[in-house]
Amino acid sequence: MWFAKSAPEVLTECKVDPATGLTTEEAQARLAQYGENKLEGKPKKSLIALFFSHLQDMLIYVLLGAAVITLVIGEYVDAIIILLVVFLNAAIGVIQEYKAEKAVEALQQMTTPKSLVKRDGQIQEINSEDIVVGDIVVIDAGRFIPADIRLIESANLQIEESALTGESVPSEKDANNIHPDPKTPIGDKTNMAFMSTLATYGRGEGVVVATAMETEIGKIAKILDEDIEEMTPLQKRLDELGRVLGFIAIAVCVLIFIIAFFQKRDLFEMFLTAISLAVAAIPEGLPAIVAIVLALGVTRMSKINAIVKKLPAVETLGSVSIICSDKTGTLTQNKMTVVKFYTLDNLQNVPSEGTGFEARQEEQELMKSFVLCSDATYEDGQGTGDPTEVALIVLGDKYDLSRQRLHTEYKRVGEKPFDSDRKLMSTLNQEGTGYRVHTKGAIDNILKIAKNALVNGQVVPLTAEMKANYLQVAEAMSDDALRVLGAAYKDTDRVIDPEEMEQDLTVLGIVGMIDPPRLEVKDSIAQAKSAGITPVMITGDHRNTAAAIAKELGIASALEQSITGTEIDALSEEEFAGKINSYRVFARVSPEHKVKIVKAYQEQGNVVSMTGDGVNDAPSLKNADIGVAMGITGTDVSKSASDMILADDNFTTIVHAIEEGRNIYNNIRKSVIFLLSCNLGEVVAIFASVLFFWPVPLLATQILWINLITDTLPAIALGVDPGDKEVMKKKPRDPKESFFAGGAGARAVLGGTLIGVLTLVAFYFGLNEYGYSLGSANIPDEVLTYARTMAFVVLAGSQLFYSFAMRSPTKSIFQLGLFSNKYLVVAVVVGFMLQLGVITIPFLADAFKLQMLSGGDWGIVILFSLIPLTLNEIAKIFMRMTAKN
Ligand code: ATP
Repeated sequence: MWFAKSAPEVLTECKVDPATGLTTEEAQARLAQYGENKLEGKPKKSLIALFFSHLQDMLIYVLLGAAVITLVIGEYVDAIIILLVVFLNAAIGVIQEYKAEKAVEALQQMTTPKSLVKRDGQIQEINSEDIVVGDIVVIDAGRFIPADIRLIESANLQIEESALTGESVPSEKDANNIHPDPKTPIGDKTNMAFMSTLATYGRGEGVVVATAMETEIGKIAKILDEDIEEMTPLQKRLDELGRVLGFIAIAVCVLIFIIAFFQKRDLFEMFLTAISLAVAAIPEGLPAIVAIVLALGVTRMSKINAIVKKLPAVETLGSVSIICSDKTGTLTQNKMTVVKFYTLDNLQNVPSEGTGFEARQEEQELMKSFVLCSDATYEDGQGTGDPTEVALIVLGDKYDLSRQRLHTEYKRVGEKPFDSDRKLMSTLNQEGTGYRVHTKGAIDNILKIAKNALVNGQVVPLTAEMKANYLQVAEAMSDDALRVLGAAYKDTDRVIDPEEMEQDLTVLGIVGMIDPPRLEVKDSIAQAKSAGITPVMITGDHRNTAAAIAKELGIASALEQSITGTEIDALSEEEFAGKINSYRVFARVSPEHKVKIVKAYQEQGNVVSMTGDGVNDAPSLKNADIGVAMGITGTDVSKSASDMILADDNFTTIVHAIEEGRNIYNNIRKSVIFLLSCNLGEVVAIFASVLFFWPVPLLATQILWINLITDTLPAIALGVDPGDKEVMKKKPRDPKESFFAGGAGARAVLGGTLIGVLTLVAFYFGLNEYGYSLGSANIPDEVLTYARTMAFVVLAGSQLFYSFAMRSPTKSIFQLGLFSNKYLVVAVVVGFMLQLGVITIPFLADAFKLQMLSGGDWGIVILFSLIPLTLNEIAKIFMRMTAKN
């Protein structure tokens, strides 16, 4: 019952000194003894269980049944092949699923929350899983609470505890409270912070008293059992398509069997053929292929700093038409430097280097307020905390107003933290025998709550003229792309509450700081524009500052393309949606405006990506089609609400991620179209032969072999095809667009039919060599074997070659570079070697009822196999010609 004890008691029991925290050795020892701070999820499936889950399929049961029948009637070789195929199929399924899962797990690892703890006397950021009882944890707004904590210090700390209590209004915390009543409900334990709840405001520090399953959330075992295996929209659509095609395939197979029955063919052989054909034709592997391509793609994206948290995001990325981006840190470097300061009627430039500069008394007051009202530090050239504040500390250092000295001399006794709605921050510090409020923030907001101004060392009433004067200087600074911050103060004789701080202030002046744009962003913006995507800037900063930077980066061309939060408020939702396309810069906005912006863009039919980092950004990130959180400066809340995290906070990464997203979608399409053409080829060959009373060109085992061995590898290789550089010259894909748009469906049907017909022609050639034709009666077995071998090689060969044609709907294989997808080259070579293997290795050839071909016949089969690829390449020439005209 930690809440019933005083903070010093708890600290003694946990054997920790709050000033230094645990030592690393002690923390490691405790971790080894008590284990990681992790809630237990549902147990993972074992490999064996996974394997068996892949056998639970109607078709597989039928195949297994067929294997049993073949065993009973003594066709042992066929039985073995069928069983082998079934097991190999399941094994491949397991490998695919395992790989996909590993990729997702690795990504989850990257996004595990981190916590600030005090160890060895220093504050460090560690994985929340490594937290142990006794750790001193620093809590600030936007962070998840990593364990159950008894607070030892709190400043306006508010924690949202809905994960535990269901109550979404944050509860106020106070480290000094003690609750002697053992029955105090969780929501009333104001001196505690619980695991999985969320700090929304203020700051605090506490000692960890319980971790993992010992915590309140662990005890009620309400584990966030989010099912991350949810299918993406594309997977769902393909799953449906697979099912439809599956029914068609089964219907065709039943038809084949019925026709064969009336034709009085060998029923058992036809039964096996029909089943194998069904297995081959039903594209049950589509969602699996999509999963693996997505998983591999997501792994690749993490290497370029885009960490995709939810697989559907990859597909959506390809359709993004609007990128809404924060300014500070994403478009700019977030390296602030104060270059100017202004007290009434006195504008000064700040020297870029050096210390010991002199300033007038009221200028010193201005800087003193800035330094005292900052949490950042700057020592030995290293800053920690908000870069805006670091810049202010550096400014103080230049004028001999060191942070260390000021903070010791004027001790902080109260504060009202910064939030992006007020755009202000205030602290209460000792000042002589009394106290002084120091406020800093957006100058327009400061002027609204100020009564006086400090002019030439005198406090005078703030006149409209003075206000205009401050604003004019602020505008001028903003026009030069400077970030402007004002400061004000007020004296009191007692410690006042935060609510009383920001009123009747005395304005001191303003500073202007530069934050240079990121160099690479300009190119990315040009690239996004050529890809039909509109980048827009959303910022809490001043309109002119924002517009100046937007112009520099190519986002906007005129100030008229900007609108402020206040102006947005004046418009109705419809009016705003109607006008939104004329704006590129949204300035002085609060987080709730972001939601309005996202909705207005969506209203216009756009797919919107929105960046965010703050506590209040979660709603807009959730509303956006792609919510993008900042990896470095982002809060846990924004990260958990996002679909993607930028590990480097950089705008350029968003554009790269969109490019990857487009390529991944295209690659999925290539794999799927390829697989469908292959399946269709097999169906056409068998169906036609049955329909026209011809002998079947392929045996059941042969079909299974080709379907399993030959198709799988090239399909996966197509899924990792290197990106097409031209992909960013096209417009974003309409999310409603059919998967078969742009001729993809035709390519599958025509390609598949051609492959099927060629297989039959090859079969005919084989028969013909021995003087038989398709219609002949009583063809000897050796002749059939020979002709089937021809058909077998052509079917597999034409599919393998055709995979090259699938790489682009318009570009020739030479334009793409024959060897630019090495995996595909290897897949095709391996495919051919396997074909050669079954034909030439005697026991395999016997098992599959195949035989070696003559040199001349090899020439013929290779020639036939090249036909689909060649015809497709010729068609592309025409496509390119018409595209040019
Ligand atoms: P973006 O939304 O693009 O990151 P931003 O960083 O300028 O832009 P905010 O951090 O919300 O947006 O800041 C908005 C305004 O609040 C700033 O223009 C400044 O006037 C004020 N401000 C920013 N940081 C502080 C701070 N630490 N203390 C007081 N005021 C601040």
